[in-house]
Amino acid sequence: MRLIFLGPPGAGKGTQASILGKNLGTLHISTGELLRQERKDKTKRGVEAQSYIDRGALVPDRVVMEIVHEQLTKPEAKKGWILDGFPRNVSQADALDELLIGVSQQSYDCVISFEVPESVLVERLKERAIKEGRTDDTPEVLRNRLQSYHEETAPLIKFYGDRKKLEIINGFMSMEAVTGALKEVVDDLKKNI
Ligand code: ADP
Repeated sequence: MRLIFLGPPGAGKGTQASILGKNLGTLHISTGELLRQERKDKTKRGVEAQSYIDRGALVPDRVVMEIVHEQLTKPEAKKGWILDGFPRNVSQADALDELLIGVSQQSYDCVISFEVPESVLVERLKERAIKEGRTDDTPEVLRNRLQSYHEETAPLIKFYGDRKKLEIINGFMSMEAVTGALKEVVDDLKKNI
């Protein structure tokens, strides 16, 4: 099973991707997590990404594509994967198509978009700022991340919708309810793969 999780910051896609990845035994690839790890390790890519992350802007496609390429060519990726937080704009989506042809001659199975009202997102992200202390959860950076989602990432909903590869999940429910809704979608997909 090869899945793409789409959604604004705070939609809960990371939490759900982690749960589903464990259940399916597939690789959970969070570009945000991987970038934060590289920043912590002060790798060349991490140092380059830092200023973008800290102002809530997208890290250059070239850096992100390198990371995704490394992940998708891992032996574990053969069993399937969940891409969480990638692609985040149309050019990354195009680059992913090409990468998948090169790596496996296979495409993704489905794109799952998590929808949550904006007012709920802002509240959730404020709570996360207190709990996790992420440097990119301050009010101004949050505004930039939401703006970057609307301008650059949200067009992907139409992009994948036009390809009839899109499922929408209501993310404004309890965590367990979202996990349940996601399981239904995945069970249906399994029947058709
Ligand atoms: P969230 O979805 O809550 O914004 P992430 O952990 O997915 O959090 O991403 C945090 C930051 O990492 C983003 O604001 C951005 O700077 C960077 N980032 C993550 N994924 C990508 C990507 N695919 N392309 C460009 N930048 C990315």
